Amino acid sequence: MSAIAKKICLVGDFGVGKTSLIRRFVDRSFSDRYLSTVGVKISRKLVELSGEGAQGSTSVQLVIWDLEGDTKFKAISATHLQGASGIIIVSDVTRYETVENARSHIDLCAKIDPKSWVVVALNKADLIDAEQMVKFTKLCNFTDRPLVIGTYQTSAKTGEAVDLIFQQLAAKMILPA
Ligand code: GDP
Ligand code: MG
Repeated sequence: MSAIAKKICLVGDFGVGKTSLIRRFVDRSFSDRYLSTVGVKISRKLVELSGEGAQGSTSVQLVIWDLEGDTKFKAISATHLQGASGIIIVSDVTRYETVENARSHIDLCAKIDPKSWVVVALNKADLIDAEQMVKFTKLCNFTDRPLVIGTYQTSAKTGEAVDLIFQQLAAKMILPA
């Protein structure tokens, strides 16, 4: 059985944990060191989906693009984002400005490809307390952005909600338009 292949891009400021989330999801591992990304790194993972929309069970080959951390985000990413069915916007909850930047990343992605679904990951959830997290989650309520499926608190370190964000995106992407 051959699976459909779908492209996913991770987008966010430098050091928010894009590479770490992919590592956790694909290799089931985590490193405390900064994993510098040069250019673009592409990973693949087969995901099985069942129920909701999938008749019986369906598999999707996720082709995951890790984009180099760069402050010149706008300049580098437009071409890389093309053809993506899903985008994960990543913020680091220990750096407020990266959470604020989520909205402009969402808008930029929507401009480049108004058809790709978006999930927001408030990453490094293991580093702040639950009360603070609630504040961030409220701030990141993107109900006015129809392409945003949801906002999730994640941790590449503990694995919290990491599989979930990729699965939520995959499930949306395979539904008929
Ligand atoms: P990128 O530039 O967005 O790809 O960020 P990296 O994945 O390279 O992560 C930057 C730093 O944050 C590294 O030192 C990681 O170990 C650390 N990091 C990433 N995700 C988490 C997390 O969920 N929790 C904690 N405590 N540290 C994290
Ligand atoms: Mg990286």
